[in-house]
Amino acid sequence: MKKLLLIYTGGTIGMSRNPRTGTLEPFSFSHLLANVPELTQLDAQIDNGQWADADGNPLPPIDSSDMSPELWIQLARTIAANYDAYDGFVILHGTDTMAYTASALSFMLENLTKPVILTGSQLPVGQLRTDGRENLITAVQIATATDSEGHALVPEVGICFGGALLRGNRTTKKSAEAFSAFASFNYPPLADVGVEITYHPDRILKPNTHTGLRTRKPDLDNVQCSIFNSQFSIQLDSRVIIFSLFPGIREDIIKHIIMAPGVRGIVMRTYGSGNAPQYPWLLRALRESTKSGKVIVNVSQCIQGRVEMSRYDCGYHLQEAGVISGRDITVESAVTKLMYLLARYPDEPDAVRQLMTRSLRGEMTE
Ligand code: ASP
Repeated sequence: MKKLLLIYTGGTIGMSRNPRTGTLEPFSFSHLLANVPELTQLDAQIDNGQWADADGNPLPPIDSSDMSPELWIQLARTIAANYDAYDGFVILHGTDTMAYTASALSFMLENLTKPVILTGSQLPVGQLRTDGRENLITAVQIATATDSEGHALVPEVGICFGGALLRGNRTTKKSAEAFSAFASFNYPPLADVGVEITYHPDRILKPNTHTGLRTRKPDLDNVQCSIFNSQFSIQLDSRVIIFSLFPGIREDIIKHIIMAPGVRGIVMRTYGSGNAPQYPWLLRALRESTKSGKVIVNVSQCIQGRVEMSRYDCGYHLQEAGVISGRDITVESAVTKLMYLLARYPDEPDAVRQLMTRSLRGEMTE
């Protein structure tokens, strides 16, 4: 029998209605499990993974709008601490920031050989037409599925939702209403969920099964450390910002963002294939910021397709100003990857720039 750790962080799936205000509020884990008795029919031992702070104090379930880099670190720590004891992990999470959490976890947990599957729902499990029951049951099945040699079928951070399993760091929340709430516009599903769960092994990452989970500075110098020799040190640097270009963008306002001394990384949402207006003040501000060590990443406002800064003159100037191409990465993935790399290479902006253009966990097409 497979062993699975179920971590409940909150979200609609476990919410119930406050009789006084009429709003949905996070509720207890036992309430949630009581509404999905089918879990006992699955061929898996399901344990409750404690959602706890750095000192081990239990955290209350949250609306995922309250998610934070500190909580991502706690989640990654919980998975790493329990990594040997379980075959797979399911994280119950609100849909609003699920794509950010999935992206952040994918960067923090390097060389995953076990599934980490996030799911949630649009309707609470206590409601008649809930999508939560099916999402949860399917997520557990995927997180415990193995091949004939016992290797996990999906050794990745995935989002299982509304009939599809998507690579977590390729995913965006696309609907506030549809049961199919997530999409991966630039990468196909890892599995289709219908009458059968049809996996697509050719689209799934292949980990190195001979090395353990890596959690510390492995990308450039190949240092390998893991939680098991107590060298776990995942950090995230949240001194980053996302901003969108639009016709009418003003120097006196935008310069405060680009030039802000506290900012170390910027995700700039450009037009089409990575284009921007050719205002001299904008290019100058970008160039000066880059020189001062800030990392500026170009991510398109289009949800599908890729940045190609050499296609148009107005994109080419950005490249000259030191702006890095985010290729076909999602905004969620770009901002969390920046947090991860800026923390890993605090004094090496060139290393961060170089790694921002490379696929670390399948988050972009090179
Ligand atoms: N506001 C909720 C959350 O993200 C929405 C959901 O779970 O669907 O926690």
